[in-house]
Amino acid sequence: MTRLRPPASRRAGAANLCDDVIGRITRLISSGAYPPGSSLPSERDLSVQLGVSRPSLREALRTLSVIGALETRHGSGTQVAASSADILKSSFAFLLLIDKPTIVDIYETRELIEVHLVGRAAERRTDAELAAIAAGLDGMRGLPLGDPRSVEANLRFHAAIASAAHNLVLERMMSCLHDGIRATMEASAPGVLDAEHALQVHEQIFEAIARQNPADARRAMTLHMGMGVDDARRVNAQGTAPAPALRTRRTRTVS
Ligand SMILES: [Zn+2]
Repeated sequence: MTRLRPPASRRAGAANLCDDVIGRITRLISSGAYPPGSSLPSERDLSVQLGVSRPSLREALRTLSVIGALETRHGSGTQVAASSADILKSSFAFLLLIDKPTIVDIYETRELIEVHLVGRAAERRTDAELAAIAAGLDGMRGLPLGDPRSVEANLRFHAAIASAAHNLVLERMMSCLHDGIRATMEASAPGVLDAEHALQVHEQIFEAIARQNPADARRAMTLHMGMGVDDARRVNAQGTAPAPALRTRRTRTVS
């Protein structure tokens, strides 16, 4: 009988070897020898340095590139990623794909992160960051909330607030949620009863940040997130189809 795949024990051995090589590369990066954005040695030199075969090294480099820890550019070899943005993003993309969180799941997560971020943004924002938040708000004006241009402007508004909070880890978490946030905006838009009020809440958030009043900013963001959940529930009650990445209600019996 023709064996199409290597035996399980050999596959496990290959996976362990790949993990081992990844561990060696990770230690090399964490030692400071190759800081973020720097180039790794050629494949030949690195295999000698790490004491591993080139096929094993190549597999490890490919894995680290897929998760966004390394960047491979044609003609310029392999670099350590300059930022961690893509690392978390790819994992979160699969979280949305596989777990299909509900809109309420996403809004609760947004509330946890964004209410905190908006308070920090009010305390820490620069004038340039305030201008970026204002630009997002301007982009929403005069458009229906479900309009793709309004959704993009709304995303820019929230991303600019995350950036103005000056907390890189939370900003990264927000950028991971980007696709999920877009899906919540698209899914809840048909449930918005008063578009003018929805825009006003964004104005309140902006004004509180402009006045550098964290308590008001947090209050307005809490209101915004609560309204989002209500809008999503109305969409669910209307039976409108949810955005493809999300479910409007939890249907799993086992979690
Ligand atoms: Zn918003």
